Amino acid sequence: MREIAIVGGGPAGALCGERLASHGFRVTIFDERLAWEKPCGGGLTYKAIEAYPFLLDDSKPKKIVRTAELISGGGHRARFEMNRPIVIYARKVLNGLLLDRAVAAGCTAIRSRVTSVDIDGAKVRLMAGGEERHSDFVVLAAGARNQLLPETTALGTKDLEVTLGYFVPTEEDIIKVKFLKEFEGYLWSFPRADHLSVGICAKMGQNPTQQLRRHLDEFVVEEKISMAGAKFYSHMLPSPQAQTIRGRRIVGRNWAMAGDAAACVDPITGEGLYYALRSGDLLAQALVEGQPQAYPERLRAAFSADLEFAANIARKIFRGNFLGGAITTRMVQLLNCSPAFRDLIRDVFSGSQDYRTLKRRLWDQFGITLLEFVRAFFGSAPAASIARLDPREPLP
Ligand SMILES: Cc1cc2nc3c(=O)[nH]c(=O)nc-3n(C[C@H](O)[C@H](O)[C@H](O)COP(=O)(O)OP(=O)(O)OC[C@H]3O[C@@H](n4cnc5c(N)ncnc54)[C@H](O)[C@@H]3O)c2cc1C
Repeated sequence: MREIAIVGGGPAGALCGERLASHGFRVTIFDERLAWEKPCGGGLTYKAIEAYPFLLDDSKPKKIVRTAELISGGGHRARFEMNRPIVIYARKVLNGLLLDRAVAAGCTAIRSRVTSVDIDGAKVRLMAGGEERHSDFVVLAAGARNQLLPETTALGTKDLEVTLGYFVPTEEDIIKVKFLKEFEGYLWSFPRADHLSVGICAKMGQNPTQQLRRHLDEFVVEEKISMAGAKFYSHMLPSPQAQTIRGRRIVGRNWAMAGDAAACVDPITGEGLYYALRSGDLLAQALVEGQPQAYPERLRAAFSADLEFAANIARKIFRGNFLGGAITTRMVQLLNCSPAFRDLIRDVFSGSQDYRTLKRRLWDQFGITLLEFVRAFFGSAPAASIARLDPREPLP
């Protein structure tokens, strides 16, 4: 298997191509737009920077953000310094950087739309820009909604989020995230080198688009974001259910999927860039070793078991209650009054705290956190009742 065709030159396809070409594979990346401003926040957590340091070291314009603010549905705010920065790119810049690296490693990048893929013969046959192309293997990294292979199922409504937003030509230095009451999703403002990406994401089919647009426009007014020259965008984002993460077929005899196409997105935060890069990387490693069938297991060990866990708790986080208030509201309040909780959220933001060990850590710190919380709100701590908390009980 020496000739690989990659459909999609986003983070998953470009990084996969770079890794394969640097191991001597002949790689052609087809992308209908090549580097473009894909609707996105563009935020890379520290775990992405740690795995791919060139994302920080490269001289391309980017914003390094150290301050974040969480806002509850009732308007409570908590601002905190992150212990590890978030690096924010305009997507045209990020995709350009990744494609340049792929081409420098030996890939051919072709601006062309792939309209069909046939995997039944000895060679894969692709139609791209009206021409037939052949390869030994095809990587499908064409984003959230592609149905190029009939034998794979496209992500359905339950596995997707709707996003709407604006690119606003103004400068900021902090990340803002706002939760809404009884709402599976959130609003965000991400500062980039010379503009903001402001947006809203929500589970598909749960809220009419006009309502999302209204929330977005209210947010922009509340946060006093000047909208002169703002450009509207909307796009789809995978928000996979646990069973999709566990059961979806992402590899076959001569094909595999990576990135959004493989539903590699955090179902709570919507973070997809790190998972796109990592899945492209892991797929390339499996192909280099001649073991494409090992790819799903490696993906599972690296992160998809954690994403499956996240999918199981996502609804509770956005809609659940704790101590008589929404979990998201309590989270904002705890951030303001508990140093232990603040440390935990910092680690969640940097990506160094996974979901599966979060519950244990919450339990270990629960006593301290709750004590701090109760003290801040009521002035004194009912130590006896906190001592009675039983860590074997499920979390509220
Ligand atoms: C509004 C929004 C905000 C987001 N914010 C963040 C964030 O701040 N941080 C984060 O980590 N993630 C974020 N994400 C998720 C992130 O954008 C994706 O997870 C990531 O882009 C996935 O990379 P990918 O390479 O799999 O797919 P994409 O980046 O979607 O790349 C797919 C490529 O395939 C090409 N293509 C598609 N079909 C064809 C075809 N038939 N022929 C040829 N080319 C084709 C497209 O042109 C595109 O370049 C956000 C997503 C959205 C929608």
